[in-house]
Amino acid sequence: MALASTNGEVVTLPSPSPDQVYVTISALEGGHLTLPESLFVTPADPEKRSTVPSLSFLIQHPPSIQTLSQDARSETTKLIFDLGLKRDFSGYREAQQQHIAQRQPTTVSPDVAESLQKGGLSPEDINKVVLSHVHWDHVGTPSDFPNAEFVVGNGTLHLLAHGGGPLYPASLFNADELPRDRTKELPAVQNSAEFESHDRVSEHRWQPMAGFPSAIDFFADGSLYIIDAPGHLHGHVNLLARTAPGKWVYLGGDCCHDPRILSREREIALYDDGKGGLRSVHMDTDGATRTVERVPQYPPLLSTSTMQLSSLLGAIALLTLAAAEPTVYLIRHGEKPDSGNGLSAAGQQRAQCLRSVFGATSKYQIGHIMAQTPKSDGKRKRPYDTVAPLAADLGLSVDTSCDRDDAKCVEDVVKGYTGSGNILICWEHDALSDIVDELGKDDNPPSYPDDA
Ligand SMILES: [Zn+2]
Repeated sequence: MALASTNGEVVTLPSPSPDQVYVTISALEGGHLTLPESLFVTPADPEKRSTVPSLSFLIQHPPSIQTLSQDARSETTKLIFDLGLKRDFSGYREAQQQHIAQRQPTTVSPDVAESLQKGGLSPEDINKVVLSHVHWDHVGTPSDFPNAEFVVGNGTLHLLAHGGGPLYPASLFNADELPRDRTKELPAVQNSAEFESHDRVSEHRWQPMAGFPSAIDFFADGSLYIIDAPGHLHGHVNLLARTAPGKWVYLGGDCCHDPRILSREREIALYDDGKGGLRSVHMDTDGATRTVERVPQYPPLLSTSTMQLSSLLGAIALLTLAAAEPTVYLIRHGEKPDSGNGLSAAGQQRAQCLRSVFGATSKYQIGHIMAQTPKSDGKRKRPYDTVAPLAADLGLSVDTSCDRDDAKCVEDVVKGYTGSGNILICWEHDALSDIVDELGKDDNPPSYPDDA
């Protein structure tokens, strides 16, 4: 799959393997905080403050050949990326609480543990926690996850214990934040000897991947990559998740706090550091700029023009939802002949044309095709005939389990669909509007034209 990154380079993400495993992603609420626009972008409205979510993401990875050989895990791995805010602010140190006082209003309910419970999971079910970085609004309540292994970027443990220079004093971090016996730090990226290696460094290996200089294939099966994303804070990492054929979700942590920075409509803000210099919200502004330039441009991210100052995480949540649910494409059947059943010559031509419109190399990524049930006398078969050549190309069988007038049946198939890719529905045009109605995606379904 090819994508353009914000620096204009075309990035080709790795193709799926024959037995490719995909992950699912669910956005979890992890609290809210309030940010002044002027600290994040320039030019900015000096008065504007926005209350934004600190999102967390549940990533579920089914067992694959690779993971079975690693640890014989036969169950789905449940991983959480970032833990949002602590629900109990007394868990923050004094200097952190002073900082948080400037980020009011905040909310802490639901926090990540409560969000999981709302979805029928318990924090005890979580196997792994990956933190993009250890700022107060991402570190959450680690003690809620007694069975999880924690994974953090290189330099994070040193930062928690000793701080990171005058702008990031140790008082802004908690040395005991993470469980000592269950936390692993990723190794240093190549050519970086900034931090000493120690016994808590994981065995992962950084390698170049697509346009990213340093990535870790986390499950060794191409389903989830940890991306080195330097600049925001020591050890800052992002995730790139493969969710379906041709579908990826990039989780950006704090690589950027406003989609207009990604689209180059705004720049990263610089402000007085109180020590005679200028700073940004990033520890290394130039490094953060280079990281943002490598983030692939996803059209859904950039087309959310109604979103003003919401965090990148908010933007990515939209992308996540789009990736988690299949898109349903509805088309009418091909043209009918002057009399009798089947398709006219023009209709057959349309059926052939659909092979390229919705084919394997198209952007539609069709994984399931539906057509109304044909009658035994050959009636109602045009929708089937219209999509049959495409289905054969894609190696799919046409699902004809629903009668023309049973929109509820179509809804049940769509809502119950757990396969990969999107759904194409070909139907008698008069009944299409009922299906749109039933799917509830549109209060004002289009009317489909009669046969010309
Ligand atoms: Zn941060």
